[in-house]
Amino acid sequence: MSSSSASASMEMPALIQAMVAEFLQLSPGVFATPVVLSRMLAIVQEEKRLCMLSEDMPAFGLPHRIVVQWEGRSKSSARLRVQVMEALLTDEDYVTKQEAVFEKFYPATSDGLLAGMVDAKEALANLKRGFCEQCLAQRPPQRKLKGKGFAVCNGCAVSAAFGCKRVY
Ligand SMILES: [Zn+2]
Repeated sequence: MSSSSASASMEMPALIQAMVAEFLQLSPGVFATPVVLSRMLAIVQEEKRLCMLSEDMPAFGLPHRIVVQWEGRSKSSARLRVQVMEALLTDEDYVTKQEAVFEKFYPATSDGLLAGMVDAKEALANLKRGFCEQCLAQRPPQRKLKGKGFAVCNGCAVSAAFGCKRVY
């Protein structure tokens, strides 16, 4: 093996390790190890419902939030309900924004909890990018979140790539 290929092969694992470490980091300094995840799962089981705010409390209403609920009596039949809810910043929002923009169920296991965290974080990032203006302009208006890397929703992005106006 030449010295240049040896140094290249030594660099790769470090890069990959850094990427893996970043991916597995739940919050600064807290890693997604089995011990940490089972401890967090026990917290959700004990609390039954955690409502987590994405921002500081506004003067009125509630910011975007993630709600995690433990559903079911026994551990074997239990599941986690994970929801991402839109900010409520006006009186009208309390009527029009009660439906979750993201809702999914997961097994009440460490793996299920981790999958819920990853999905909900992505849904929250989508929500922060806002809604597809093309879909909002339709009659009746449709509220679809912008797709990752697109200025429009996923459906409109694929539709435009096919040279079409809109998707049903
Ligand atoms: Zn759209």
